[in-house]
Amino acid sequence: MTGMRILLVLLAAGVAFAQADYDLLLKGGRVIDGRNNLNAVRDVAIKGDRIAAVAADIPSSRAQRTVDVTGLLVTPGLIDIHVHVYAGTGERNSYAGDNSVYPDGFTFRAGVTTVADAGGAGWRNFDDFRDRIINRSLTRVLAFLNIVGNGMRGGKLEQDLSDMEVKPTADTALKHKGLIVGIKSAHYAGRDWAPFERGEEAARIAGVPFMVDFGNNFPERPLYDLLNKVYRPGDIYTHMYSGLRDEQDEATGGPSRAMIDGRKRGVIFDVGHGGGSFFWRVAVPMVKAGFIPDTISTDLHITSMNSGMKDMLNVMSKFLILGLPLEQVILQSTWNPAKAIQHEELGHLSAGSIADVAVLRLEKGDFGFTDAGNGRLRGNQKLTCELTIKSGRVQWDLNGLSRDDWEKQPPPRKKR
Ligand SMILES: [Zn+2]
Repeated sequence: MTGMRILLVLLAAGVAFAQADYDLLLKGGRVIDGRNNLNAVRDVAIKGDRIAAVAADIPSSRAQRTVDVTGLLVTPGLIDIHVHVYAGTGERNSYAGDNSVYPDGFTFRAGVTTVADAGGAGWRNFDDFRDRIINRSLTRVLAFLNIVGNGMRGGKLEQDLSDMEVKPTADTALKHKGLIVGIKSAHYAGRDWAPFERGEEAARIAGVPFMVDFGNNFPERPLYDLLNKVYRPGDIYTHMYSGLRDEQDEATGGPSRAMIDGRKRGVIFDVGHGGGSFFWRVAVPMVKAGFIPDTISTDLHITSMNSGMKDMLNVMSKFLILGLPLEQVILQSTWNPAKAIQHEELGHLSAGSIADVAVLRLEKGDFGFTDAGNGRLRGNQKLTCELTIKSGRVQWDLNGLSRDDWEKQPPPRKKR
């Protein structure tokens, strides 16, 4: 080719690029978007960091790059509202330290684009959490602020009532509203109500929900009163299938009166699987009785990910094999959590919304799913993640669906 011809070809390519309406087109997948009542084969077009269009047939010629996702599921990026990602402080045996994981290493490979750290930081160390994790992660990281000023640092610090202060907690939550999406109480081993009343008060002032891990179970502070007296509608009860605090009715195996009445009042029930908070002996009869999650979450940390929990898709698959419809499980992992944390711009694929997308495969086969007590339930389907797009950019691509065959790649630039 002459120099002139090369120039013309390059110019033509440049024009073609400039004229593409979309950067990326996901073609032929089954789109499941509960917020928009969509469960059908659709094409999804992305431009920049936004969903540009969702339609029955968008021509490939309009996109710079087309990815064939025929036979796969296309869902909003998954939202996991209970994780522990305050890593890197160097503190041992602490969820503001070694018990946490860095989000990007564990999110995208499971289709997750947004997480909420559940109380790793309190008002004293939120700035450190923000600088260390939120600002440095590609994953969208949000936080429930611990009512304990020192956050989830274990031992005596988490039990110190004098460090559970309403005002600085509420002030910090208000100052970072949007990043701080709720207040958290966890692991409280005392018999009094103070942590829960103060957490609720801080949440009320900040206009965010209160999430509780109810700690030790005592007759002096029954679950019924937390869910039906302390809680406001929209507050979140996590570890719903732990069975550790009278979630389950002993006689029937179904949900207790506390849970039934709490749901009637608008309490949000969250899975929070974790390392010790999800048992088949609780989940099977409760789901059979119709008590299903509002939100599916992992309680990701170094222990849960290496035991029964594994990852978000494993937890979602557990509800598929418990018989929940696929659309419902996706809803519980996208739009429902988006609403629960007041981020309604997330969790759906409406045109103009942020392009957080997961492309999932529903595998058929013989699989086993273990709970927090190493009990196994076998099932014949399982979700895996092919492609994760966060704010319009591919962050995970298991089989290179969006990539070129290596022979077709342009030659590498020579180093000088
Ligand atoms: Zn947790």
